[in-house]
Amino acid sequence: MQSMREEVVSLQNTLIQLKALEDFNQTLKSDHTELLDYIRVMEEYVYTTKTDIKGTITDVSDSFCRLTGFTREEFVGKNHNLIRHDDMDKQLFKELWETISDGDIWEGDIQSVKKDGTSFWMRVVIFPRYNIDKELIGYASIRHNITDAKQLESEVIHDSLTGLYNRRYYDEIIERELMRSKREKAYFTFVMMDIDFFKLYNDTYGHRKGDHVLREVGKVLQKRLNRGSDFCFRLGGEEFGFFFINESLEASIFLTEGICKAIEALRIPHSKNKASPYVTASFGLVNVNMQTAVTDEQALYTAADNALYKAKEAGRNRVVIFESGDMELF
Ligand code: GH3
Ligand code: MG
Ligand code: MG
Repeated sequence: MQSMREEVVSLQNTLIQLKALEDFNQTLKSDHTELLDYIRVMEEYVYTTKTDIKGTITDVSDSFCRLTGFTREEFVGKNHNLIRHDDMDKQLFKELWETISDGDIWEGDIQSVKKDGTSFWMRVVIFPRYNIDKELIGYASIRHNITDAKQLESEVIHDSLTGLYNRRYYDEIIERELMRSKREKAYFTFVMMDIDFFKLYNDTYGHRKGDHVLREVGKVLQKRLNRGSDFCFRLGGEEFGFFFINESLEASIFLTEGICKAIEALRIPHSKNKASPYVTASFGLVNVNMQTAVTDEQALYTAADNALYKAKEAGRNRVVIFESGDMELF
């Protein structure tokens, strides 16, 4: 039988344990409240989405609903195609899926579309979610809005009048693209293009109409040079440049002559143009076999400029091809 004293000690111990339990409970409660606060802030300010293994959306944060204009109900049960932008490369999504289904984290920039049709850019981190038994149960993404930064980036490399790439971007990428075509064992075509008698056009129709011509000509280039490896630039004033990789000189000439004809086919009246009643342009084309030629940007530029000069001399509204016999460049 326990003595009175032993009973008191035992009771005291139980009380101490109860107190400890009570403290633990308090800590848990406060941790829980902290966690709930944290989740509330996340919901409010951080863009998040969750999906199952197949990519079907199971949850999105309030902030993401506010940003995109879609409700949680509209998101849940669908996949991210709901906000997919047509300009996004399919290859990127393929790589994304390969990465996350391997259990790795994917990080990258994605352009998406809001419910009202406007586009936005996000830096996205996607990671796998596991249950307590370490089984994959889906994926989650954390995103932040980088639309403003992308806009700025775009303004730096584009010409504001025509929307084509600008001279700065040409300087930035030409060497890199030359190296790429060398690796791909392709021909590289560089074309310089200049609008005919454009000073006279401005003098006759005014500078504003002149600007309109530059925009229309820019649209022709954009429409006809729309493959991933095509690049076109407004190099300055009424001078444009474009380059692309190709399989043969014939294909390059065909494409460039198509552009020449399409500009005249805009049928923009230009009464002072001696080459046509309409606005036209002249082209200097250089085509290099990157396997055999040792070339750099300077040599290409000089060659295309030389051919363009010949196109002007020969009567304008035409494409002239640089002949290697003309100058020792390559
Ligand atoms: P050519 O057929 O030999 O090329 O003659 P051109 O008159 O086109 O050539 P020139 O280099 O003498 O004149 C180019 C003109 O382009 C001069 C300038 O008024 C015009 N120009 C350059 N930039 C712009 C622009 O941003 N807007 C407008 N409207 N005109 C421009
Ligand atoms: Mg000109
Ligand atoms: Mg010029």
